[in-house]
Amino acid sequence: MPFTELQNELDRRVAQDLLRRRRTLDTPQSPHIVVDGKPYLAFCSNDYLGLANHPQLIAALQQGAQHWGVGAGAAHLVNGHFGAHHRLEQQLAAFAGKPAALLFSTGYMANLGVVQALVGKGDTVFADKLNHASLNDAMQLSRAETKRYRHGDMQQLSQLLAQTPSGRKLVITDAVFSMDGDIAPLQELLALCEQHDAWLYVDDAHGFGVLGEQGRGSLAQFGIASPRVIHMATLGKAAGVSGAFVAAEQVVIDTLVNHAHSYVYTTATPPALSVALSQSLELIARGDALRAHLQKLVAQLRGGLSGLPWQLMPSDTAIQPLLIGDNLQALQLSEALRERGIWVAAIRPPTVPQGTARLRITLSAAHGEADVSRLVGALHELAHR
Ligand code: PMP
Repeated sequence: MPFTELQNELDRRVAQDLLRRRRTLDTPQSPHIVVDGKPYLAFCSNDYLGLANHPQLIAALQQGAQHWGVGAGAAHLVNGHFGAHHRLEQQLAAFAGKPAALLFSTGYMANLGVVQALVGKGDTVFADKLNHASLNDAMQLSRAETKRYRHGDMQQLSQLLAQTPSGRKLVITDAVFSMDGDIAPLQELLALCEQHDAWLYVDDAHGFGVLGEQGRGSLAQFGIASPRVIHMATLGKAAGVSGAFVAAEQVVIDTLVNHAHSYVYTTATPPALSVALSQSLELIARGDALRAHLQKLVAQLRGGLSGLPWQLMPSDTAIQPLLIGDNLQALQLSEALRERGIWVAAIRPPTVPQGTARLRITLSAAHGEADVSRLVGALHELAHR
């Protein structure tokens, strides 16, 4: 067998309770899903506003497909850049309060493309140790020197910046940390970047649509509007569709169009998706009631889960991880919830640091208070078994 080594590696993962498996859903994304014929109440999507299955977005996608067809058929720089893409980019730039925006097919590709296009050999990338995997991969791909600072440690970042006299300096960070739910110290990050003439790249995958006035994201929440900041957000989470955008000064966007390989060398995202996303942006901007409801659910969950043997990690966002520690225990708790018809994913190393396996509970505006009560009740019952 030519692949024995691969099998051995997978077997080792099984032995360490680290094997990753997919489960196939029979219903659309929503708090109420059916998997293998069984209904579950789910707390693990990133569909924070409940838009993934929204009738207005379904209608917009259908109209988009009627008008533009299904596939783009070419890369953006060949003849795959359509009016629907162009209009969405203009809307996104205005929404983000930046001169220009560029649409990518996914957030993963945006991160790879931006970091690779902006820095290279002789430059330095500074990164929070808990950044998303796509940012970590991006800095490897760029071939710049990489300096990682302890999570949120501005003193260490300041020292690292001071020790780097030459080359471009790019600080990259999650805005809302995807596995912890806490928010990066964005104002301090910007101040340090100004002091050391560094650029600041903020990945707002989990803040966009959820935080800030009209859901404009984490930067808006902190009143940050600086040309030095390059703003990225994904469109497959709160926006409910797919894709990502980068909003920045025109010169940055023009540089990406010319140099970001994951933009240049790939088929453009289907324009029909951009039609749905234009509609989604409107729902996000008008979504104060959804955001208020989500915040209420966060408070309900945090209040309800105090007094458990496991701690919720400090977070005010829709990501509410319950720290378990041990891999097997996290898996068993996830499994016990599943037996009770509740779906919460266990997250284990290497996605999170060793010894910090957790249940990543995510809330959505599509949840009701009764849904949260059911989860709270089940966790209390399991804690006192
Ligand atoms: N950045 C962060 C912080 C993320 O959490 C994710 C997705 N989990 C991505 C980027 C990648 O985005 P996408 O899913 O659109 O590729």
